[in-house]
Amino acid sequence: MSSVVEKFGSLVFDDVAMKERLPKDTYKALQKTIKEGRHLDLSVANIVANAMKDWAIEKGATHYTHWFQPLTGITAEKHDSFISPVDNGKVIMEFSGKELIQGEPDASSFPSGGLRATFEARGYTAWDATSYAFIKDGVLCIPTAFCSYSGHALDQKTPLLRSMEAISRQALRVVKLFGNDDVKTIRTTVGPEQEYFLVDKKLFDQRKDLIYTGRTLFGSHPPKGQELDDHYFGTIKPRVAAFMKDLNDELWKLGVLAKTEHNEVAPAQHELAPIFSTTNIAADHNQLTMEIMQKIASKHGLVCLLHEKPFAGVNGSGKHNNWSISTDTGINLLEPGETPYENAQFLLFLCAIIKAVDEYQDLLRISVASAGNDHRLGANEAPPAIVSMFLGSELSEILEAIENDNQYDTKEKELLRIGVHTLPKFPKDTTDRNRTSPFAFTGNKFEFRALGSAASISCVNTVLNTSVAEELRQFADQLENSSDFEKDLHDLIRKTIHEHKRIIFNGNGYDSSWVAEAEKRGLLNLKTTPDALPYLLKDKNVELFTSHKVFSKEELEARYEVLMEKYCKTINIEALTMLDMVHKDILPAMSKYSDTLAKSYTDKKAVCPDIDCSYEKEYLKNLSTLMGAATVQTKRLEDDLLEAKGIEDFTELGNFCKSNIIADMNALRISVDGMETIASAEDWPYPSYGELLFGVR
Ligand code: ADP
Ligand code: MG
Repeated sequence: MSSVVEKFGSLVFDDVAMKERLPKDTYKALQKTIKEGRHLDLSVANIVANAMKDWAIEKGATHYTHWFQPLTGITAEKHDSFISPVDNGKVIMEFSGKELIQGEPDASSFPSGGLRATFEARGYTAWDATSYAFIKDGVLCIPTAFCSYSGHALDQKTPLLRSMEAISRQALRVVKLFGNDDVKTIRTTVGPEQEYFLVDKKLFDQRKDLIYTGRTLFGSHPPKGQELDDHYFGTIKPRVAAFMKDLNDELWKLGVLAKTEHNEVAPAQHELAPIFSTTNIAADHNQLTMEIMQKIASKHGLVCLLHEKPFAGVNGSGKHNNWSISTDTGINLLEPGETPYENAQFLLFLCAIIKAVDEYQDLLRISVASAGNDHRLGANEAPPAIVSMFLGSELSEILEAIENDNQYDTKEKELLRIGVHTLPKFPKDTTDRNRTSPFAFTGNKFEFRALGSAASISCVNTVLNTSVAEELRQFADQLENSSDFEKDLHDLIRKTIHEHKRIIFNGNGYDSSWVAEAEKRGLLNLKTTPDALPYLLKDKNVELFTSHKVFSKEELEARYEVLMEKYCKTINIEALTMLDMVHKDILPAMSKYSDTLAKSYTDKKAVCPDIDCSYEKEYLKNLSTLMGAATVQTKRLEDDLLEAKGIEDFTELGNFCKSNIIADMNALRISVDGMETIASAEDWPYPSYGELLFGVR
């Protein structure tokens, strides 16, 4: 199989495979489930399962798994073979409808944030028929949602699917106001741009910090970093190109629309962007992409780092979440239209998003919060922790004209009346890009840039979908009973712009003056994960999620606990790794190096008492000072870790990690990096930043 067209989706039980393999009425029934969310009859499921199994076996599969995304952040799978014993001591290959639709994995070892204590340990997985089954490593993978026995979501996908229903429900009401009666469902679409680093596996294996934490905890800056901007979009080196080729092949077979690949800003940093798809499928595909990236890298003697900040001093990695809303009739609702009515509809959706981002800026910040991403947000390389929106000058001027009842186009000498006048075509100028904004309008979609590279895209999109659903609900409530639609629409848009324009910022988000300005505007600046997470349980947020049936209050409390616990555990592992490196490798190595210097000093002096030994003397002195400092700092870190052990409350522990443990780690790093700067290459126990960042050719 050679051509891309043939290869694409060859390991996916997609529409073509279904049509080919299912009896007509079974196919139709399944389509109803996929398109309209209808319940799937067990008799139909039995036929689908059998066809799926035959197809999978032909492709070499022996096992199946319910593939799901628990709150650990990675995907989970438990393989069961198709074998079933028969009388003569032999087996046949079987797969029933029940096995396809529902699984019952033991949920007790997945994070549940307390939901497990109150409810049964067992959980169940349910087939998400809207995401196709696929074969990975000889296993038929069935994308599923994962819930506790009492129906509480224990995964990323369940709330995402619920939020997609919520926004579809409310957006439908709004498009109907504009006469679009043929629209049956509305879906959000996402194209996540995935950044990552590639390092040589031999070097990776020599660094405990990369092995245990995915990032370097020590490392002095190499002579060259990213200052020449010579890596961004640069020629792709042969080893990386070979990796990318294999990666594309594998992703295409799995039906992932891998499209764009290029070098990123930092040395050894790259990006892969797929063509966008429906949000839950984009989420599944992004999880697959991250997994396959790591697998293919190891085949090439490389390791793919998905951590948000693997190296200090050069850019970290993000995952730009390009998001839009589309009808089943193929209209992108964030595409400014051709007619006055289309434009009015666009403006109303735009206003819903503006209002949502303003009112739920805390949730958007939480949706990207993690220990890893804290290193990125706020550093001058990624959007700041302050959530704001970039609309570009053209669109901003239009909104301003509407707000102030000003003439937008002076030639027309008329006031811009929504629903009456055609708005000018908004230019989709790719040069008018504000790279510093966390949430930028890019012509027909929004690009949320604060998400970290390692995260699932589910959380961000659950927040986006639900918050926009809420604003659309309010708008529909007001407009559905209006007696003068055009006037009420105009007033509503004007009022929304007026009340929420503080969230719009077209300037430089990296500028320190923005922090002061944002504060004046009353925008939140939640710098770290422990600062942000408590907002999850604010009344307005609980009200939002419960009223749209996306999360119950218990589920939200559970998520809060899981997220805070994960933050604390991550910091704890990093601190312990640092201590291990310092105790086992760094201080012993530097002690040896000091011995060499001391011995060289005394040997030389013995031969010739007035010889210049300033190198040995000065380096020995400096090294000893740094080793002394590191010893004190190590002790402090150990003491604080001990104190942390005694803190039971997660909120308190999170804050303690943030203010004490991280401060201790930073201090220790300064001393150790100082030692690396003066130590001989031979005596330093780890590969350097220079080798890691420039080693792959
Ligand atoms: P850039 O942001 O570099 O200009 P593109 O505009 O081509 O690149 O798109 C970046 C990502 O946005 C791609 O993954 C693309 O598929 C996705 N995208 C484009 N249109 C939409 C849309 N309507 N909804 C969601 N994602 C989209
Ligand atoms: Mg982009």
